[in-house]
Amino acid sequence: MKKETVDLICNVGELIRLFEKSTRVEDFLSSVVSLISEHMNTHVCSIYLYHEAKKKLILKATKGLRPEAIGKVELNLGQGITGRALKELRDICVPKASKSPFNEPIKDIGEEKYEAFLAVPILRGLSRVGVLVLQHQTPGFFDSQDTKTLKAISAQLAVILENAQLMLELGIERKIKISNSKMDSHFIKGISASDGTARGKALKLGARGEALFLTVNSEKTETTLDDFNRAVGLSISQLEQLQKEMEEHLNEMVLLIFSAHLLMLKDETFIGTMKELILDGDTPENAVIKVVNNFIALFSKSEAPLMREKAQDVKDIGHRILRNLKPGIEAPGDYSGQIIIAGELLPSEMVKFSIQRAEGIVLFGGGLTAHIAILAKSLNIPMIMTEDELLFQIEEETDLLIDAHQGHLFINPSKDVIKNYEELKISHRLAAYPDVEEKSFTRDKTRIRIFANINLLSDLKVAKKLKSEGIGLYRSEFPFLIRNELPSEEEQLRVYSKLHEEMNNKEVVFRTLDIGGDKMLSYLANRSESNPFLGLRAIRFSLKNKEIFKTQLRAMLRAGYKRNLNIMFPLISSVDDFLDVKNIVSESIIELEKEKINFNPEPNLGAMIELPSAVEIAPELASETQFMSIGTNDLVQYILGVDRTNEQVSNLYMAHHPAIYRAINRIAKAAQEKNCDLSVCGDIAADPYMIPFLIGIGIRKLSVNPRLIPVVQDRIMEISEKKCKEFARKLLGIGTIKKVKDFLKENESTLT
Ligand code: PEP
Ligand code: MG
Repeated sequence: MKKETVDLICNVGELIRLFEKSTRVEDFLSSVVSLISEHMNTHVCSIYLYHEAKKKLILKATKGLRPEAIGKVELNLGQGITGRALKELRDICVPKASKSPFNEPIKDIGEEKYEAFLAVPILRGLSRVGVLVLQHQTPGFFDSQDTKTLKAISAQLAVILENAQLMLELGIERKIKISNSKMDSHFIKGISASDGTARGKALKLGARGEALFLTVNSEKTETTLDDFNRAVGLSISQLEQLQKEMEEHLNEMVLLIFSAHLLMLKDETFIGTMKELILDGDTPENAVIKVVNNFIALFSKSEAPLMREKAQDVKDIGHRILRNLKPGIEAPGDYSGQIIIAGELLPSEMVKFSIQRAEGIVLFGGGLTAHIAILAKSLNIPMIMTEDELLFQIEEETDLLIDAHQGHLFINPSKDVIKNYEELKISHRLAAYPDVEEKSFTRDKTRIRIFANINLLSDLKVAKKLKSEGIGLYRSEFPFLIRNELPSEEEQLRVYSKLHEEMNNKEVVFRTLDIGGDKMLSYLANRSESNPFLGLRAIRFSLKNKEIFKTQLRAMLRAGYKRNLNIMFPLISSVDDFLDVKNIVSESIIELEKEKINFNPEPNLGAMIELPSAVEIAPELASETQFMSIGTNDLVQYILGVDRTNEQVSNLYMAHHPAIYRAINRIAKAAQEKNCDLSVCGDIAADPYMIPFLIGIGIRKLSVNPRLIPVVQDRIMEISEKKCKEFARKLLGIGTIKKVKDFLKENESTLT
């Protein structure tokens, strides 16, 4: 019988429809293998899915092997032909399995008699989903056309199989619908912005970040004016306590982030009006709601984000008093047990929610900006982003579960999902701080230094626990972003000194403000720009706002007193920029000298290489600076002309592009020739496929999100510098993205 490969590819749509019709994930997988084996006229078709936590491939569906084996057969990565296909991320076609050195037939599932073997990995990007396997009794039954067909099918099925895998892991057996009747869905797919899992009741903000009015409570309550007074008193003491906790954990915000809340709680027009309403016969709950809603209406009218933020502050207070009015001594007052759903979120709002113990955040598509995601990671609050409008149909108080590791939101999760979530939480907690070595070496003993990127002082704990060798990038804009006004020189000094102290005088690199682009300060009069990423951003902002810049430089110079001080400047586009910066540093030094204040008069000054122009002049910059760091998050965006925050073009934003490899290589060569210290501090420094390239071209210093230090170290320790060199040399000779991808797949296993 002939194989109907073309038909099968055409019928992939049929497979997808099968998923929509299936009542159980297992049924769907079983239909898939039946359909493929029928069209390909093969004796066996099986799907193995990769269980990330167990690091095992598990047989999930088969046509042709013993059905009892489903769920029981588990393979290690690299085990047998199937395991090897996934480990090496390549398809393997074997004419006669009994003669293959990789073959390890699994006992008791009846596969010994099948000679022809075709295994194709199922991948989402470069992440492993599973393996699709065909087997046939006739040796040499599969040809290159079959391989192509199976690859096409595997690509089409990858997304759905990835979801299926997750659902199986979480034990979802209910009817799955990804069709149009969205409200029935129990599951929304998003992308992860900050890892973690969270469970709680939905609390909604408006689609554009505006505070929604508190909903009027029609329930009859027995609460009295005394209860109201008690609730207000409790709210005040809770907020004062929070303020104290914050001072301990997040020094950046000693600036009384809840001062507005406390002021309002003590304000007679605000609290006084509520009391009057209660005396006139309103319930305390309704009095709170009426007054709060009035204020929200007032503030929401404003175009200024700062005022809209105030509306959220007022809602925050209303929310707290209402929770404190609820009977029960343990009323938390804060957002514990709640998951925030929002269209947009200001950084300061995120901090407030996080400090008030919100469990997690779900943001609608457009609301995600790079710094919001970075901030969520630093605050360690699980967050996902989705473009599914269904989000806004979720009613308040709906039971939600976020699995931000996978980017999934479960609505009204089943008992099984919740049980699995609890287990997941425990395993992640256990895995939170794996063992790390003090120093990292490749297999052939090349020393690579791993530094941490720090956004908030709270990140230091992780960095220290995971033995970071220093701070390769301190994003100094974060204290500016999360507060309501510019921090003073003294406040900045405190933060910068703390960084040095906590790191025990290990190397620390302060980056000056990177404001603009997607990071706007709500308290500065921001002119709207049609291309903010090409506008008044980073060093351009600092050079234009010299006073703000000087205040920051003075604080850094002072924090560096009797210490080694490194200051780095973002988005340098010319040597001239850098010379301007140097002049301002000199001016600040002269001022401090005159004022007889202690400071470091000899800071090391460095440039971030983030623009194509900086790549072109890297040799000159290498001569002029004391160090350089490659900010690949921006470098990729500017070289490829792809906005790093725009979901529409996120598929075009890629580091594994010939132009990017070559640009990084040129910077590395320039730095080596001029003996200029060089590091990489963009996200690619933690990319397992990029690390060998970076090492191969001579980069010895990586600065990464501190949570990723262990995986980066593992990667470094398993590869050899000698092979990395060869790997990099070959990569630099490749001219297309497709060939790069093929090369990466083929060479995965050749680096060790
Ligand atoms: C970068 O651009 O790679 C970088 C590290 O800076 P940021 O992500 O803060 O823009
Ligand atoms: Mg940058």
